[in-house]
Amino acid sequence: MKISERLMRAKPSATLAVNAKAQELRAQGKEIVSLAVGEPDFGTPKHVCEAMKKAVDEGFTRYTPVPGIPELRKAIADYYGKFYGAKALAENTIVSNGGKHSLYNLFMALINPGDEVLIPAPYWVSYPSMVELAEGKPVIVPTTAESGFLADIETLEAACTDRTRVLVLNTPSNPTGGHYPQAHLDEIAAWAKSKGIFIISDEVYDRLVYAPAEYSTLCNFWEKNPEDVAIVGALSKSFSMTGWRVGTTLAHVDLVKAMTKIQSQSTSNVNSMTQKAAVAAFEGPWDLVDEMKVAFQRRRDLAYDIISSWPGAVCPKPNGAFYLFPVLDAFYTEETPDSASMCTKILEEAGVALVPGSAFGDDRCIRFSYAVDDEVLRKSLEKIGNVLMNK
Ligand code: PLP
Repeated sequence: MKISERLMRAKPSATLAVNAKAQELRAQGKEIVSLAVGEPDFGTPKHVCEAMKKAVDEGFTRYTPVPGIPELRKAIADYYGKFYGAKALAENTIVSNGGKHSLYNLFMALINPGDEVLIPAPYWVSYPSMVELAEGKPVIVPTTAESGFLADIETLEAACTDRTRVLVLNTPSNPTGGHYPQAHLDEIAAWAKSKGIFIISDEVYDRLVYAPAEYSTLCNFWEKNPEDVAIVGALSKSFSMTGWRVGTTLAHVDLVKAMTKIQSQSTSNVNSMTQKAAVAAFEGPWDLVDEMKVAFQRRRDLAYDIISSWPGAVCPKPNGAFYLFPVLDAFYTEETPDSASMCTKILEEAGVALVPGSAFGDDRCIRFSYAVDDEVLRKSLEKIGNVLMNK
């Protein structure tokens, strides 16, 4: 049997190795804490679960239209109006199986073989692989810790060629937590438009922004320039619904139709009952989101204070999501010369799982998720500090 060349070039998810090692240690009876998680440690809001149960009881169990049931598509369009003042119609939206699926469909719909896609690094793990699966060429654009890992126009411009078609922006960011202020986003969007570059704006953490930073989005830019940008959202992070698999795209009707075509030949609709629950999530109330924000902001401060006290650590203070991405290469040694070996050492000696920065395109860094209980977070960070400083 021969696996396709396209797939042979794709890499498996880089977090798998850390998880496998953590499981091995757990099987040996060791207590392992994971600061490697990419999901909120909160449950799903009750009214959302009730909506799902009602859908089951009412027998809402059949195929639905591929891009989603009309009431959900309208709820998504209304979400952008309610939260950001952007006018959108149900036909500008499509529901997919998680933000990941929305992104995959977008790359498939937009990229021709050899098209170049600008991806600011550090980047979410799946962007380069998705671009490659679509037979495009990922072009990694560096950013600096000093800038909070935000892309700037000069560096983007330097990475452009006549094959550049798409720019991927992610705010707030996984892995850095970095958040683009609105003016910065608008400036990049105007630049991209002037170059004929389409923007995929991954906003799956949109509601997890910490004051005094303010929410930012390209949905208002989209309203004025519907052919130049698509906005990806999800219930996974902002609504603590990772397992439900609801991703959304706000885009021009023609792009929605193209994505629908892909989805119609691959997955069809998202689970019918989940769609009913998603309507409830988008319509609110959103008390849980506010509760999560308070907890995450407190934990961000707690983790930031500890990590930035380690001599040699460079830790930008991020304004969103639930990650910190400090530069820790000052602690690398001959035995632990990179982020992967350092994560293995921390896992073995401190019993804490982290994700190496190499997975996100920056080997100087390590990703810390603070989506865990405060005390667990504090104790884990103290243990990690002791390992780094050989105490
Ligand atoms: N985009 C970013 C930046 C993410 O961090 C993730 C999940 O980790 C996704 C997209 C995919 O989200 P989902 O779980 O909804 O597929």
